[in-house]
Amino acid sequence: MDYTVRLAGVRKILAERGLQGCIVSNPDNIRYLSGFSAGADAWLFVSEELCALLTDGRYWAQAEKQCPLAELIEYRSHTDGCWAKCLAAWLTKQSWRGNLGFEGSIVYEIYSSIAEHIAVSGLAEGLVCLGGELDSLRIIKSAEEVALIREAAAVADRAWKATVVNMRAGMTESAFCAELEYNMKLQGSSRTSFDTIVASGPNGAYPHAGVTDRAIQEGELITVDFGAVYQGYCSDMTRTVWLGSLDKKSAHIYDVVKKAHDLALERVRPGLKGFEADKIARDVIAAAGFAEAFSHSLGHGVGLAVHEAPGLRKESQTLLQPGMLVTIEPGIYLPGVGGCRVEDLAVLTENGRDVLRCSPYQLLGQTHPAESFAGGCNSGLQLC
Ligand code: ZN
Ligand code: ZN
Repeated sequence: MDYTVRLAGVRKILAERGLQGCIVSNPDNIRYLSGFSAGADAWLFVSEELCALLTDGRYWAQAEKQCPLAELIEYRSHTDGCWAKCLAAWLTKQSWRGNLGFEGSIVYEIYSSIAEHIAVSGLAEGLVCLGGELDSLRIIKSAEEVALIREAAAVADRAWKATVVNMRAGMTESAFCAELEYNMKLQGSSRTSFDTIVASGPNGAYPHAGVTDRAIQEGELITVDFGAVYQGYCSDMTRTVWLGSLDKKSAHIYDVVKKAHDLALERVRPGLKGFEADKIARDVIAAAGFAEAFSHSLGHGVGLAVHEAPGLRKESQTLLQPGMLVTIEPGIYLPGVGGCRVEDLAVLTENGRDVLRCSPYQLLGQTHPAESFAGGCNSGLQLC
């Protein structure tokens, strides 16, 4: 990873905002800018000249190994007081002064300690909230990052196949979830990229349903949304499956969602704005009479965080560019009835998009998701 280029991005923001330094506290941004993977227990300070990682003894050896560019500052809780006091002492030694930026996601307690020890002491002339500006540095993925996300997606694909072929009526959502997560770990996932969703029957009406002890039954839609993490990078995929035969209404909403998904995946490309990508799928669902039942955005960026920029949503003016990596995930949710969603990951290229991986989709008429593997990828889009 080219940390020099990434730090140059921070320094450009500092120059534009009239800042002489900033504290990076978002763990994903710390990892992106320094390589340090246990970011919740660290702060990164960046100025035009300096780059320093503040962490404690538990992570010292790890920081030495992972951070090629950052100077390391050890925080000792028994002598240093709080983290801000420790950083203030180091900044004093460096003769640093100026306007200091901080990320909008910090909690008030930390803001107060920065104000007390770095601003009131006179080191920082002004404190400026950067909101989520540093997150935007991660919006375009390098080839190396795409390769890691591709592997995370492949891990999830392998786990999906190993698990779904054994899906049976009577097993609970939580039992299926446990087997899927176990298989993701076996395949090389360090953790799940978010809490796995297994939403069967009426539970499918909740887009972020989680899992319950409800037993999966024949003839109902089962939405499974899951992701693996490989070397810090996330994947995100949803498949909706069923056992036995579907009633007409369930088959219809699945068909509509699948068509919306396929069209958006086929047409998403650089040059569109976020809202235009969203509209491709939304129009298909609205034309079928389910406009109100597609209650979330079409997709989101994925990287070190499972939800990051760009958003493919109704109001997004973000211009899509090569190197952005997005999900395409339309859904229909009908309270009291059920719902479904189909989701894949695509990286935008100069000419269009490249779907990272795609587990096959269950086809209407098939009575078990295992049947979907018979013909390899059956997307009909020849994306694999
Ligand atoms: Zn998902
Ligand atoms: Zn998603």
